[in-house]
Amino acid sequence: MTKTTKQLIIANWKMRLSLKETAVLTKALATSLNKQAGAADLVLCPSYPALPVVADLLKGKKIALGAQDVFWKAKGAYTGEVSGDMLKEMGVSYVLVGHSERRLYLKETDQMVQHKVATALAEGLIPVLCVGETFTERQLGQKDVVVSRQVEKALAGVVLGSKDKLVVAYEPVWVIGSGQAVTGDEAQHSARVIRQGLINLLPGKVVENQVRIIYGGSVDAGNIGDFLPASVMNGVLVGTASLDEKSFTALVKEVV
Ligand code: PEP
Repeated sequence: MTKTTKQLIIANWKMRLSLKETAVLTKALATSLNKQAGAADLVLCPSYPALPVVADLLKGKKIALGAQDVFWKAKGAYTGEVSGDMLKEMGVSYVLVGHSERRLYLKETDQMVQHKVATALAEGLIPVLCVGETFTERQLGQKDVVVSRQVEKALAGVVLGSKDKLVVAYEPVWVIGSGQAVTGDEAQHSARVIRQGLINLLPGKVVENQVRIIYGGSVDAGNIGDFLPASVMNGVLVGTASLDEKSFTALVKEVV
């Protein structure tokens, strides 16, 4: 886990907002989070078409722009896809990779996720690798095995340069959007499993200084305190609670 004391708070707006709604929410957050923006690393991940609008509204603010996906090829006949280079042109610095909704609905495999992580790093973007078990996997007692496998496959052959950064988000699939987060202890346990997986793959110094482990899954202002102890994790990925200016601002204020 990176030695930074700052918490990383990433908002994933999924495909939930129109362009107009995205602009309204971004403007409101840019104002309400003005004071907190330097004290935590804040990232907004709107849908692809909204990236230029949000980039424009964030100019001069200490809030970073993130994308929800990236394709692994730089250019070519790949209808519907968006390259890392295009994302960078739009001012993106973070990119979600392997979110469970993409694994489920778009059938993204561990190998595709690996390509995306490698591409993001090659483009100088910060990949936010999402890993986590389904409810069935949890019931079968496979939680740790699944999380370790996802980390191992996604980072196979991946090398971090001295300036590269990586975020790994533990997101138990079964709590995403449910309104019921796992306990802080459970999140910490999985973060330790992830950390061990990282140590098996990357030099210790890289893991300590260039990788952050965060938690995602029904985080809100009421429960964020459970996920803040910075010994293993230092940040959160927020879906539902980031869609409303008041709830996201309250969450960020709890952190800083
Ligand atoms: C997510 O989809 O990454 C997420 C964390 O969503 P929610 O906060 O709604 O569970």
